[in-house]
Amino acid sequence: MEQLERGSIRISVRNLVEFVLRSGNIDNRHRAASDNSMQEGGRIHRMIQRRMGSEYHAEFFMRHTIAVGDTFDIIIEGRADGVIIEQAATEKDVIVTIDEIKSVYKDLEYIKEPVGVHLAQAKCYAYIYAEQNKLQEVRVRMTYCSIETEELKYFYERYTYVEIQSWFQDLMNAYTKWARFEFEWKKLRKKSIKETAFPFPYRAGQKELISQVYRTIYHEKKIFIEAPTGVGKTISTVFPAIKAVGEDRGDKIFYLTAKTITRTVAKECFALLRKQGLRYKTVMLTAKEKTCIYDVADCNPDACPRAKGHYDRINDAIYDLLMQEDVFERDCIDEYAAKYEVCPFEMCLDMSLFSDAVICDYNYVFDPNVYLRRFFAEGVQGNYLFLIDEAHNLVDRAMDMYSAILFKEDFLELKKQVKPYHKKLEKTLDSANKFMLSIKRECDVFRVLDVDGSADGMSLSPFLVILTRLMGQMEKFMEEEDRREVREPVFDLYLQVRHFLNMYDNINDNYVAYCEHNDEGKFMIKLLCVNPAPNITKCLDKGTSAAFFSATLLPIPYYRNLLSGNDEDYAVYAQSVFDEKKRGLFVCNDVTSKYSRRSEMEYYHIAKYIHLIAKEKLGNYLIFFPSHAFLSQVLRAYEEYFMDDSMEYVVQKAGMREEEREQFLMRFEGNEDYEISEVIHMDIEYEKEKTLLGFCVMGGIFSEGIDLQHDRLIGTIIVGTGIPMVCNERELLKDSYEEEGLPGYDYAYRYPGMNKVLQAAGRVIRTVEDMGIVVLLDDRFLTHPYQKMFPREWQHFKTCNITSISNEVAEFWALQEDDLSGQL
Ligand code: SF4
Repeated sequence: MEQLERGSIRISVRNLVEFVLRSGNIDNRHRAASDNSMQEGGRIHRMIQRRMGSEYHAEFFMRHTIAVGDTFDIIIEGRADGVIIEQAATEKDVIVTIDEIKSVYKDLEYIKEPVGVHLAQAKCYAYIYAEQNKLQEVRVRMTYCSIETEELKYFYERYTYVEIQSWFQDLMNAYTKWARFEFEWKKLRKKSIKETAFPFPYRAGQKELISQVYRTIYHEKKIFIEAPTGVGKTISTVFPAIKAVGEDRGDKIFYLTAKTITRTVAKECFALLRKQGLRYKTVMLTAKEKTCIYDVADCNPDACPRAKGHYDRINDAIYDLLMQEDVFERDCIDEYAAKYEVCPFEMCLDMSLFSDAVICDYNYVFDPNVYLRRFFAEGVQGNYLFLIDEAHNLVDRAMDMYSAILFKEDFLELKKQVKPYHKKLEKTLDSANKFMLSIKRECDVFRVLDVDGSADGMSLSPFLVILTRLMGQMEKFMEEEDRREVREPVFDLYLQVRHFLNMYDNINDNYVAYCEHNDEGKFMIKLLCVNPAPNITKCLDKGTSAAFFSATLLPIPYYRNLLSGNDEDYAVYAQSVFDEKKRGLFVCNDVTSKYSRRSEMEYYHIAKYIHLIAKEKLGNYLIFFPSHAFLSQVLRAYEEYFMDDSMEYVVQKAGMREEEREQFLMRFEGNEDYEISEVIHMDIEYEKEKTLLGFCVMGGIFSEGIDLQHDRLIGTIIVGTGIPMVCNERELLKDSYEEEGLPGYDYAYRYPGMNKVLQAAGRVIRTVEDMGIVVLLDDRFLTHPYQKMFPREWQHFKTCNITSISNEVAEFWALQEDDLSGQL
């Protein structure tokens, strides 16, 4: 008989019980209680564990292996919160109790019995311990702790070995078919990976990039990749990651993006490799609002038939889909969700458990309120490989995710809303409002707060006591109250307060707290995360390796400091595949967007530049401004002095809707079937009669993620250095970085600004055939701090002024004409 290679399937105790034992309805009316009860209150846990005596063994790791036939093992592992080993008084045996701790906001008097999945976790550990230590009996203690009062409530259970073994056997019987599927699938996957070849001829430097990514995964490191447009960064990261999975260097790929369009590119990359014979299951996670069968998601069995009994049917739906498909896309998930009458959003999330690659937004990994608990909760770990696309976006996104804001007015408003329903809650909301009022009175405009308690009366400590009490009362309110009109606003504030408390619990040197009267006249307290690197690292440490990549990741030390904080991470500057001669780069030395020099004269000057540049060649141009206000001033000057019949223009407006955005882009496309994608594009030649100018704002929707290839865009003109507006928060960031010994101005202003400039410039020249110009209208680009941020492929630029720009641009286009005629 052929000797088969013996493999193993791992699962955590938590995931095992949550997956196999789920049943009943989705009911978000009471979601607060269940969300929170599954959340590990790390501080409370440690406090309880410390109070216990020497018989208490905290964070007790257990692993148990079960052989499935001759072929593979199931390995179940996890950490029990505590194992109490006591000497029995009358026997020589020991008495063993498995302790499972859960911290809750609500009053303990409302907890009448342990939650099923909590108890099941404890029972798993009880079985494993009893089995490994040959015990005849084992006990379980469920410890619930009130976060507000730190009171404890215990529930005790006692099991004979036979009882607990029988219970565990049933659990494993239910799980084995899933494990068998996973084992067989991984064999098939591994074989197909070996046979999958790189689908293209390698571009310059691509092989090197691929091997760097593989090397990073091999050494379980992180890498930062600056990969200019055209390098093929998606395939150059996905391909080595898949190969690493084939060598058991990783198990699941998370392809993380900031925008939907990049997710489409990743999806198409996997599709391409599937055409080469790769067997790889992928899922693309989509937001609930887009997946729900209703316009508004009201997830409870009274409002939605899919919510009713969802958990009773979901595992059958998943299994059916798993057997039929490798690509879990919206349409097929909708189809199977309808067939089994389950929620398509929840089903999509569940498919990630059985997918080899999960393509999703950053949120699903990094956001403490959204992340996928099945992969990233405390105590859960995996052989995950993270590919983080457009990683320059992660700095701001992560700062937002790990910062927290509360507005005084929200407490006041909710107080009025709950008044007819709940006196106690009304009173606590009033206390929160009054506390913020007392801080507001001492804050003229803006003030830094002391997070640890201070002598000047601006400490947050009393506020936290009120907020903790408020959490308990809001939880109880939501559990008892079914009327949506009042439950929803309570839930909204509940989420904000919970996030605030969680971030406060997390506070360290990377945070600053301040209060401010904002532009809308509201008063807020903010916990500002100034460096998200420790939080990001905590998430990525759940996996094995990570690649951060972007076309604009310069300077790399800046991104490395704010995204990982580890100097030992690798860095790669991929070589541009574009011919430098096909891009004209002009830096103008007699113009600026500086506030101090903004005037009618300067607006006229910039308008004239636009006119001189665009009149040299008929085509489409994008012009990027520092703000809508600045744009309007220049546009007015342009219309007044330079507009003629050979030109037309479109303007980016604030808050454009999806259709307006598409209409704007269609003007550049010249046909109605325009599709925005790096992979799919239409090669339709069209005759242009007029030059088209797109007036846009830097850092806005048109300065990133749009792909106007060939003649669709022949030039970008960038007005200003992109630096963010000076404000109290930016100044706070600057000071914080300086305190850390970092260049504060660069970190708070110059680097984020330059990233916007590089992104805007990157809209032109999208393929090797493209030619075009980039004009930088600001003399600051000629200073050393900016010059050193220029990417390698920008070293050959021309310095111009208002007198020479026409000739320089004309000369560039003439050379391109010559080159083209030479090729014919
Ligand atoms: S279908 Fe919509 S309303 Fe129903 S459970 Fe899913 S997300 Fe909620």
